[in-house]
Amino acid sequence: MVNTLTIFIKAPAKINLTLDVLNKRPDGYHEVEMIMTTIDLSDRIGLSEISENEIRINSQNRYVPDDQRNLAYQAAKVLKEKYDIKQGVTITIDKAIPVAAGLAGGSSDAAATLRGLNKLWGLGLSLDELAKIGAEIGSDVAFCVYGGTAMAKGRGEKITHLSAPPNCWVILAKPLIGVSTADVYRNLDLSSVRHPNSQAMINAINGGDYHSVCKEIGNVLESVTLKMHPEVQHIKEQMERFGADAVLMSGSGPTVFGLVQYDSRLQRIYNGLRGFCDQVFAVRMLGDRFSE
Ligand code: ATP
Repeated sequence: MVNTLTIFIKAPAKINLTLDVLNKRPDGYHEVEMIMTTIDLSDRIGLSEISENEIRINSQNRYVPDDQRNLAYQAAKVLKEKYDIKQGVTITIDKAIPVAAGLAGGSSDAAATLRGLNKLWGLGLSLDELAKIGAEIGSDVAFCVYGGTAMAKGRGEKITHLSAPPNCWVILAKPLIGVSTADVYRNLDLSSVRHPNSQAMINAINGGDYHSVCKEIGNVLESVTLKMHPEVQHIKEQMERFGADAVLMSGSGPTVFGLVQYDSRLQRIYNGLRGFCDQVFAVRMLGDRFSE
């Protein structure tokens, strides 16, 4: 029997503390400004050397594509072609992050695959180099390569690192629907949205000011998704009613998250949401960036 080397890497989800769309560019992409942070809800990626010179995807989750549509597959393919790697790999994706949820699960899987294959194939690339490659795969991949907390601009690829937000609980609830990011952007009317104040959020984070972080969270896509999917509105209202300090939809949705400081209140909100929502998670923010 041949021993094959397998390495395991964590691929954490992100939430948007802010998401602003500044304009639509001539190339059709939206110019965004987002402050994101990684949370302790992670997929586990296994990378195994195989003798065949191909990329295989292995996942038990029926919503995860097992071919070139998978962002982790695309990450392996880009590295393989760019660095002329003649070796094959099986990518096993153990999914904990809900799919099509606004939590960047696919992007984080791709980013973890880049970090992991960099090690497995001995490429010696820096995180900056991996983030540049990641940006070709998807707009959230560059951020996910670093993790931690950052502002992302442009299409999401221009990253400015920030310090960790004040420590608190993040409670997440996802209704059963999936949301198409393209549909949400199509229905976005930039003349009628309330833009979040990114600088005020950065000041709140830098000052370690939890109450200001709660005050400044905002997402221009939220009102669009709420109109399309009333169940998201319902979750938002319930989370507010049960006592979260701040409540917002992440990305293009449909996941809604609440920030909570005290354990006692967390339990109450969790129990309340579990009464009518299947997918509820209570996690911490991760704070630190990945190291080189
Ligand atoms: P974002 O927050 O970056 O917009 P998301 O969390 O809304 O992303 P994903 O979970 O990344 O969405 O999934 C969006 C689509 O991408 C899925 O419908 C799925 O078909 C496809 N996909 C490709 N690769 C993956 C992957 N590794 N895991 C999950 N979905 C993937």
